[in-house]
Amino acid sequence: MSRPRIPGADLELALACLARGEPVAFPTETVYGLGARIDSPRGLERVFHLKGRPRAHPLILHLAAARDLERHARNIPPLAWLLAERYWPGPLTLVLERSDAVPDAVTGGQPTVGVRVPAHALAQQLIARAGVALAAPSANRFQQLSPTSAEHVRAAFGDELCVLDGGPCRGGIESTILDLSGSAPRLLRPGLVTREELEPLCGPLLEADAGAPRVSGSHPLHYAPRARVELAAAGEWRRALEQARARGERIAALVPHEVVAAAATSDPDVVVLPADGAAAARALYAALHAFDARGCERILAVLPAERALGSAIADRLRRAAGRG
Ligand code: AMP
Ligand code: MG
Repeated sequence: MSRPRIPGADLELALACLARGEPVAFPTETVYGLGARIDSPRGLERVFHLKGRPRAHPLILHLAAARDLERHARNIPPLAWLLAERYWPGPLTLVLERSDAVPDAVTGGQPTVGVRVPAHALAQQLIARAGVALAAPSANRFQQLSPTSAEHVRAAFGDELCVLDGGPCRGGIESTILDLSGSAPRLLRPGLVTREELEPLCGPLLEADAGAPRVSGSHPLHYAPRARVELAAAGEWRRALEQARARGERIAALVPHEVVAAAATSDPDVVVLPADGAAAARALYAALHAFDARGCERILAVLPAERALGSAIADRLRRAAGRG
């Protein structure tokens, strides 16, 4: 069935979709989300169905304001309030003990809930006007690349979906997920808020448990474009690229600035991630989506140095290569 396509920023139509139990794709500062009202079992079911996402994979709750935390979480530690004060609205998801206001469908039956306040005017208006938290994973099919523009969402879902168009996302990769539900803070997913920023406030962060079923990374393949992503060493990608091109393969390379002189970017098959970490994060999925749109079969990716935003970028590229 064809569903309404929302021109520009038509909040009223989006709200009507949500009220009918239809998910709505909406822009955030990280990537586009696929949201449903948490009081709509049908809406939540449709989110899992549309994405093809396993029901045990929890969704992030998107709140209008930090004060709404109290309704959705219990035993909130002072550190959570401090981080909320410092980073919300913004790309930091906190995992806390859930309250009874959060349905099982959102948490995958777990005793915890992931929450954040997105820093995008349209997202904030949508949530505030809905009058209830929206549960939203990224607006892509399971294991595929996250969308950073309304066009990416439409390319994945066609006319099946209400899309609120807020232009390209300024962050470009998913939120940092910090688990505060245990005895010490644990970094479940690196993101736009870096470990280096968090540790002075939180103390040393534990690593995500290997194999814990709660985060995207527990699946070997995630954040993946259609083209096959292969990790390449800094000294090897150029030769591999040229050999593959000589064989007639449709191949491209994504390399960090430290690996290649800017002059080499005149090669149309090579995208160099900028030196500025925020700009590199913003460019990452846009480049992978563009390689797919060009019909690339293989992408050679060189990992950036793993500090600050380079950690989040390397994390996504490893998962896209099925090496998470
Ligand atoms: P997505 O927006 O599709 O990238 O997925 C949301 C991410 O948040 C996934 O990695 C979830 O596993 C994670 N997440 C959401 N809620 C929780 C939670 N209660 N505990 C751990 N991870 C969570
Ligand atoms: Mg996702």
